[in-house]
Amino acid sequence: MSGQINAFEMAQKQFDGVAKLLKLDPGVAEILRWPMREYSFRIPVRLEDGSIKVFQGFRVQHNDARGPNKGGIRFHPAETMDTVRALATWMTWKCAVADIPLGGGKGGIIVDPSTLTVNEKEELCRGWVRAMWKNIGPRNDVPAPDVGTTPQMMGWMMDEYSRLVGQYTPGVFTGKPLGGGGSLGRTEATGFGVIYTVREAMKHLNMDSKKTVAAIEGFGNVAQYAAIGFIDMLGGRVACVSCWDRHEKKSFTYSRKDGVDPRFLMTIVDEYGTIDKKKAQDSGYTIEDGEAWITKEAEVLIPAAIEGHVNADTIKVMSRNVKIVAEGANGPCTPEADEHFKKNKIFNIPDFLCNAGGVTTSYFEQVQNDMNFYWPKDEVLQKLDQKMTSAFHAVLDRSEREKVYMRDAAYMVAIDRVVQAMDMRGWLTGSV
Ligand code: GLU
Repeated sequence: MSGQINAFEMAQKQFDGVAKLLKLDPGVAEILRWPMREYSFRIPVRLEDGSIKVFQGFRVQHNDARGPNKGGIRFHPAETMDTVRALATWMTWKCAVADIPLGGGKGGIIVDPSTLTVNEKEELCRGWVRAMWKNIGPRNDVPAPDVGTTPQMMGWMMDEYSRLVGQYTPGVFTGKPLGGGGSLGRTEATGFGVIYTVREAMKHLNMDSKKTVAAIEGFGNVAQYAAIGFIDMLGGRVACVSCWDRHEKKSFTYSRKDGVDPRFLMTIVDEYGTIDKKKAQDSGYTIEDGEAWITKEAEVLIPAAIEGHVNADTIKVMSRNVKIVAEGANGPCTPEADEHFKKNKIFNIPDFLCNAGGVTTSYFEQVQNDMNFYWPKDEVLQKLDQKMTSAFHAVLDRSEREKVYMRDAAYMVAIDRVVQAMDMRGWLTGSV
């Protein structure tokens, strides 16, 4: 998060603008602009050198009118209560826009996971669950992976919860490893979901996807599968990816004349998303500073790293060819960037629509856990495509009907659905 941007203020600002457009009752708006519950706790872990280190953990449950809270847990050194609040809020809108029966939650720990050994990471994961287990569960809050967390971590967390409650409970965490209650297709889901929405946007804008170039920020799970999907499903070229280098503590952009090969790059990236610079260089990649990704000649920008990176500064150097910005990350574009997109008629696919593929497949994972019957990968991805396509068109229709920007239209669809659920449950009538 860049210093001057507070993600929660940004989430509230976006919400307030649409609440006004919707003429939302001020009391109802006040319910929705704050999370319902917030947890902040300390997790002591004995490190392998024998010392004890105390970590700061969070969980925020924004709104569960439509179903159990749902959302990832981030392990990030710059995590704050406000970033978790913002991300939990966006999860409420994400689940509503994807039309899955879940609410919004998010968790985090202030930690750089690459500084811990495998055993220390396991202890930290189990410690998070010991602090939170009474307040999570398949019917009230279901965490998942996010920045810095992995399927293996979800496996440990599910195990800790199952031990504490005394029964195997796979549906308490999603994004679990295959064979350990995970769903086929969950790994690809967020990145492929991004591409399903880009495909629909291109149809709408009459663009020939085979002639398009994408510039991608990030090379974590979302960026990797968005890059593969852009090439395999749309026939386009990926000019570059950029990624954080944990050794040099800065990010770099990797490009190649004929486009990057994400499958090759995946063989030289470590588990924390750092690409091996030497191996990339030896294979003909040009390496530039992190922000170069946004300057590349591309019709499609896919920021799939972290919040706030497309902002008042970086839009100044953004390529003029850009026609679509597909937000693979949560909150990557600031309100200043939105103004720039509106002015220049750049089509925005807002984060909580664009990257809803992950949580949608998490929902499928939970359904499979409940049934104890697992679907083949094609079936998962086909169901995901249907959900993403209909979510995209619900937002596009609203945007055209009300002549509003796509992000505002997505908020309108989501807020309407959440308010309707709160109303139906009697939360807005009688004694609130
Ligand atoms: N962390 C992902 C997100 O931000 C996935 C959440 C989930 O699967 O619950 O959407």
